[in-house]
Amino acid sequence: MPAITNHMPTAELQALDSAHHMHPFTNGDELAAKGARVITRAKGVYLTDSEGVEILDGMAGLWCVNIGYGRDELAEVAARQMRELPYYNTFFQTTHVPAIALASKIAELAPGDLNHVFFAAGGSEANDTNIRMVRTYWDAKGKPDKKIIISRKNAYHGSSMGSASLGGMAGMHAQGGMPIPDIHHINQPDWWAEGGDMTPEAFGLARAQELEAAIQDLGEDRVAAFIAEPVQGAGGVIVAPDSYWPEIQRICDKYEILLIADEVITGFGRTGNWFGCQTLNIRPDIMTIAKGLSSGYQPVGGSVVSDEVAKTLGGVEFNHGYTYSGHPVAAAVALENLRILEEEGIVDRVRAETAPYLAEKWHSLGDHPLVGETRIVGMMASLALTPDKASRAKFASDPGTVGYICRERCFANNLIMRHVGDRMVISPPLVITKAEIDTLIDRARRALDECHAQLRERDLL
Ligand code: PMP
Repeated sequence: MPAITNHMPTAELQALDSAHHMHPFTNGDELAAKGARVITRAKGVYLTDSEGVEILDGMAGLWCVNIGYGRDELAEVAARQMRELPYYNTFFQTTHVPAIALASKIAELAPGDLNHVFFAAGGSEANDTNIRMVRTYWDAKGKPDKKIIISRKNAYHGSSMGSASLGGMAGMHAQGGMPIPDIHHINQPDWWAEGGDMTPEAFGLARAQELEAAIQDLGEDRVAAFIAEPVQGAGGVIVAPDSYWPEIQRICDKYEILLIADEVITGFGRTGNWFGCQTLNIRPDIMTIAKGLSSGYQPVGGSVVSDEVAKTLGGVEFNHGYTYSGHPVAAAVALENLRILEEEGIVDRVRAETAPYLAEKWHSLGDHPLVGETRIVGMMASLALTPDKASRAKFASDPGTVGYICRERCFANNLIMRHVGDRMVISPPLVITKAEIDTLIDRARRALDECHAQLRERDLL
């Protein structure tokens, strides 16, 4: 077999890719017919593909490359750590310096008394930890019937059996026998799509009160926890009305329900604070972290838990752990990533300068005929596409048809935006500059114009 390198012609790479590589969330036959885009390099906020085209990455990979691509410091740290101690585990009463240092740093950055970290290799694993941890917590408290975890429809918490069961994605539940028992889903606070004639405030309150109704219905003595993303990411960057989170917090406080904030996307600066729960004034008992923890340079995640939860679990042998829990190379790289985020003032700059600038530009897209709603929190934002703004109408075509066309026009304009149904979303690297934001917005507007023209041509408007 010839060496497979960046220098191979794109068509050959695509043929080998479709012959041997199975892609996540992809129809393999469709991709084989089209050929995957081959990314070969990246620097800052720009990707380069195998044809040499430079593409502005409006998604920071999968919402994760917070410090941007191509930071040598992380490569140096990884190489150093690999030479010194490439692997050891943290089972059986053993530890190592990178795990100690990273856990300590996370405890310092995390709000309140979230001072203890159980490591995983990503968000799905961490949420699986959470399922077992909250149930074990209530066992240890002498309340073994508290097993049910309440989550939300259209939430995304990962792809493993446990985490996808927590998630509320109907398409995922349809495959492979999910959800697992004792997971219950309430409705999401998506006012644009589901709010009907209610005001956003009244709707937010009503959706939060579904949690209280579910607790009363299922029985307070059977509910262990409520899990939610502070801002739904993969569901379409859905920002709850202002009335929602205070009511959720009140309900979790009133009943004995642990609150799990899934901060896999919202953590490490994405919302303009270190954690989304700070932006939204939530006091979780557990936070799920991953992605921005290492800016995606290494696979690492974890569950950050309160003193109370850690103390209660302290008396139990928790029969749970992953070969790569606290992996030394991943931990060392994550620590260096946090140093850069902190010392370069990246989170502060997002909050004070670049997020407000992006917000102003993002909202300016609201005058486009296809754009109904513009939502943004920090550096994550969405546009709801609609044929009629006033009535918040949906397109007559299958959901996602228009979003897909728009995404293709973004690609054609060398911009990566994602579509979730007929919503367009961005989550750029936090280091994006004002000039790069201008480029992003110019390309997005051009893509919207081209999408609009195509919809007319194809009679989809
Ligand atoms: N939780 C949330 C909120 C996520 O957005 C994701 C990934 N998009 C996950 C969990 C799962 O993380 P991973 O893909 O690292 O397993």
